[in-house]
Amino acid sequence: MMMHYVNHGFAYICMQVLAALAETMKKGTSFGAPCLLENVLAEMIISAVPSIEMVRFVNSGTEACMGVLSLARAFTGREKIIKFEGCYHGHGDPFLVKAGSGVATLGLPDSPGVPKATTFETLTAPYNDIAAVESLFNSNKGELAAIILEPVVGNSGFIPPKSDFLEAIRRLTKENGALLIFDEVMTGFRLSYGGAQEYFGITPDLTTLGKIIGGGLPVGAYGGRREIMEMMAPAGPMYQAGTLSGNPLAMTAGIHTLKRLKEPGTYEYLDKITGELVQGVLDARKKAGHAICGGHIRGMFGFFFTEGPVHNFDDAKTSDTAKFASFYRGMLEEGVYLAPSQFEAGFTSLAHSSEDIQKTIAAAEKVLSKI
Ligand SMILES: *Cc1c(COP(=O)(O)O)cnc(C)c1O
Repeated sequence: MMMHYVNHGFAYICMQVLAALAETMKKGTSFGAPCLLENVLAEMIISAVPSIEMVRFVNSGTEACMGVLSLARAFTGREKIIKFEGCYHGHGDPFLVKAGSGVATLGLPDSPGVPKATTFETLTAPYNDIAAVESLFNSNKGELAAIILEPVVGNSGFIPPKSDFLEAIRRLTKENGALLIFDEVMTGFRLSYGGAQEYFGITPDLTTLGKIIGGGLPVGAYGGRREIMEMMAPAGPMYQAGTLSGNPLAMTAGIHTLKRLKEPGTYEYLDKITGELVQGVLDARKKAGHAICGGHIRGMFGFFFTEGPVHNFDDAKTSDTAKFASFYRGMLEEGVYLAPSQFEAGFTSLAHSSEDIQKTIAAAEKVLSKI
């Protein structure tokens, strides 16, 4: 059996999820109207994620980021935003500037088809660089609506924030009347049940979610403080809607996946197996004489073929991607499916056993000695 580490939507398909989906399906697959299951998942998310007092469901992480951006602009009455180089917030036009994920992997400069006007208000800074953010605030006084970021980057490889980075961003946004948006589409319910914000103890104003909360079905969500969320129709004037949003099947898969994640020991287990995996691969690479760095937080991990440390996208780009490609293909031949890009993080899930981890390390030792 192939072992994979690219389970964005949480590949651990527990039987409860499948059984619950079959039951829900009998009642209909989509109603184009709100359903009770939305309230159930909404309450689970609100009680889990510190910043979220109200939540809106959409169909993908992309949609969540587009919605949250309009909301931040509507609430502050400002248009400029800061995003970080190598961070990915879906394919909405305003975010396709120095984006991560496939944009980084394919080396696309800035995506064609995006009118200049839609990215004009998108300012960028290197990740982990507080001085750059301060200088953007100084040169755009009273004009910045929000900063959006991945609290741990997964879309230009695995890049954790420096110890004071998130705190400084929180302080700067507050001082300047801008909103702080954590894009937790990847980190939500992955770093801890309350996401990266719970893990680091930093509470943003708004949060986007996706991936895990759909348990493998298409879902996105955004939420935050009540006074901000009430800007949206029907409570307020900002319009956003979706025929398939809050789809009963996606809600069901999300509810049962979160139930499984809430069981005691989940995140300790993920931390343990992921730590073993990363250490094992790092040791193997050193033995084989490769330049190497890597790390993990709970079930999220990554390696770069460079000495490191890697604090931002420019650092990540010093990685030997030809070597990564040989490693990736070698691992695939050994039955291990890693994320197929140097600029993507990897994930463990509850389906991975200690035995899987040991087999993966053995495969890495073999492959690394040959490349
Ligand atoms: C995957 C991802 C998105 C986009 O979500 P989709 O469901 O693919 O549209 C946005 N932000 C982050 C951080 C992501 O990892």
